[in-house]
Amino acid sequence: MPYIFPPTAGIVGIPVLGQSGHFPVRRVFCAGRNYAAHAKEMGWKGDSKEEPFFFTKPNDTLLVAASFDQEVAVPYPLMTKNLHHEIELVVALGSGGSNLSAPAAGKSVFGYALGLDLTRRDLQNLAKEKGQPWDMAKGFDYGAPISPIIPAKEISTIEHCSMELQVNGIVRQHGKISDMIWNIPEIIAHLSQYIELKAGDLIFTGTPEGVNAVQKGDILAAKLDSFLQLKAKIV
Ligand code: MN
Repeated sequence: MPYIFPPTAGIVGIPVLGQSGHFPVRRVFCAGRNYAAHAKEMGWKGDSKEEPFFFTKPNDTLLVAASFDQEVAVPYPLMTKNLHHEIELVVALGSGGSNLSAPAAGKSVFGYALGLDLTRRDLQNLAKEKGQPWDMAKGFDYGAPISPIIPAKEISTIEHCSMELQVNGIVRQHGKISDMIWNIPEIIAHLSQYIELKAGDLIFTGTPEGVNAVQKGDILAAKLDSFLQLKAKIV
């Protein structure tokens, strides 16, 4: 079927370590409040073991690094004076389903990437205050830089891994995957109660403590042990 003007966006593909084909992204989900120390720093006073909650980012917010060494350029977004970094482990699904059990959810994982859930914190705080949606705080252009994917089989135990984010050479965030309130299979299983997950879905699994503002010119460098790297510059 012809289009009335040329369509702008196609499928976003993410390079996969050791494979010539790219991972075709279907949808992007993000979990909130999945590390107790971060929930606390954001002012959360409730029981950290509440049901996980989710939001989405449009696929075209993804800014895909072509390699672990490539530094992606992130234009400082419009309408904010308080752009925050949130480094997160991203789960890439190779299969899906709805109402998955945790063991079945664990088997749906194809691989892992590192992602930045960049956030216009001033807009998010305003939205929280007014009971409005977070979309404009989270779903802006270039708001989701992401590294290439490593297949899950290359990492024997993801729970033993740690991630770290440096800004201009100084460590800002450090988190152990084992510190997640809801572990990876549990997060996937919960999300699958709300929507039917499919191969190609990405899930940002939440950020550890230490979120903070970035400025134009800042260099961000993240890693998951020796497995994953993500580099970005705010321009
Ligand atoms: Mn986040």
